[in-house]
Amino acid sequence: MAIGLTFAGATRVVGVFGDPVEHSCSPQMHNAAFQAMGLDWVYLAFRVAHEHLHSAVKAVRALNMPGVNVTVPHKVAAVPLVDRLSREAEQTGAVNTMVNENGILTGHNTDVEGFLRCARGAGVTLGGQRVMVLGAGGAARAVVAGLAQVGAAQVVVANRSPHRAAEVAELGNRLAGHAFAGPCELTAEALKQADEGISVFIQTTSVGMYPDVGGALPLPWELVGPDTWVVDLVYNPPRTRLLALAEQRGARCVGGVEMLVQQGAASLELWSKREAPVPVMREALVAALEGVANGGG
Ligand code: NDP
Repeated sequence: MAIGLTFAGATRVVGVFGDPVEHSCSPQMHNAAFQAMGLDWVYLAFRVAHEHLHSAVKAVRALNMPGVNVTVPHKVAAVPLVDRLSREAEQTGAVNTMVNENGILTGHNTDVEGFLRCARGAGVTLGGQRVMVLGAGGAARAVVAGLAQVGAAQVVVANRSPHRAAEVAELGNRLAGHAFAGPCELTAEALKQADEGISVFIQTTSVGMYPDVGGALPLPWELVGPDTWVVDLVYNPPRTRLLALAEQRGARCVGGVEMLVQQGAASLELWSKREAPVPVMREALVAALEGVANGGG
């Protein structure tokens, strides 16, 4: 992609550390933002193997980078490598953004803010609601931390591996300061039993993600209707099979693209201390995802 910047002596490098990382669309999204902001920065994807993460983080300081994003599988391993943690990074035990200020690295987790901005923007009410979170990985931890922040009434965490559902529910209870979350098995029967009064379903597993787009978790479909929100964090494809099924039942649906945009915008604002050009980032991300779906990327 031509980004219209002339790299020179003052150009600063930002990026993402992951493994694999080749299919990340964050470079397109952030480079479009830098151009719109007139920032002489470039964003690159770095494939960093687990054993090199420590050296890569040292390089952020050594190369005077404004910061980096950290993605799968390094979000938890990055925690002890920074000098300070934001409240959200400490709460979730995961870092997706590092900010370098004069060699001092602060670890943030903008997935929490990204999720909350996305929900607010779509008009999803979370405060006072009963919410079901499907999955108990890193994304689920960010979602549950967000739900605790905005005062969701009750949260059911359903996951394939029950011990992880219990851990995430416990995390939610600790953050909320009272018993607001409980685990549930990820079976149609158990979900149906736990469903009473649930108004928001949040799908945080990798099921349905490109290239295995045919997958969809079991939902208690008879309880999904026009009064229900279904949020799927998977962003590739933008409209997952789960969302297509939920739409057929008249549910109000939100896909993962907007959360990805909003977590990226929150990271950019931390690095640059300026407002992020969200529409530009959204447009660039959607175009990049279309490229991946068409076999590019
Ligand atoms: P993790 O690897 O931390 O967690 C994966 C989760 O998916 C676990 O709960 C795992 O269950 C579950 N899972 C995986 N395969 C299956 C399956 N076949 N059946 C049932 N459950 C399954 O990943 P993350 O939490 O970091 O990411 C999860 C998804 O969220 C990804 O698609 C990612 O792209 C997306 N995401 C989107 C963001 C956005 O901004 N839109 C931000 C962050 C993530 P188990 O514990 O049993 O293994």
